[in-house]
Amino acid sequence: MTEQDPIADPMTIPVEEVQLRCNRCNKPITPATAILTETGYRCAECVRAQQRVFDTTKKLDPFLGFAVAALISFAGSWLAGRLGFFTILVAPAIGTLITNAVRLVVNRRRSKALNTAVLAGAIVGALPLLIMAIVPLLRGSGLLLTGGGNLLPLIWRVVYAALVSSSAYAQAKGLRL
Ligand SMILES: [Zn+2]
Repeated sequence: MTEQDPIADPMTIPVEEVQLRCNRCNKPITPATAILTETGYRCAECVRAQQRVFDTTKKLDPFLGFAVAALISFAGSWLAGRLGFFTILVAPAIGTLITNAVRLVVNRRRSKALNTAVLAGAIVGALPLLIMAIVPLLRGSGLLLTGGGNLLPLIWRVVYAALVSSSAYAQAKGLRL
């Protein structure tokens, strides 16, 4: 095989020469070591440094985050039970409320553990009324077969639990600037 001019034949350019740079420190990185983040490709050092910056919570913060998320989610689920279809619009807003309230309570500190605690709190807060909607259906066994209409409140509670928790979690994660 003869040595070819790389410019004449682009296929012979080694992969490493394709200039990929960390979008934070601008250091050249190879596709093998590049880490794709929400804001683009970064080198491993920058990603690690960033994670340290974002892990600023104190020991109690995840517990506070959980409690605040659970309380607001519970209050929201009570409201959602009266809204039917509008649950779809209200639940994400309650998710936003949860994220903002938690931010205030923990003084804007952040960490993955806190995000997970917010997610868990939002789900747990939506559960009591969801379970209460299931219990009557189980008791009156005939209801499940005859009254499809009785399932609707339960469906909205499930929709609420899914939307409020995913909304709160996505925003808690997305608030990293
Ligand atoms: Zn970098």
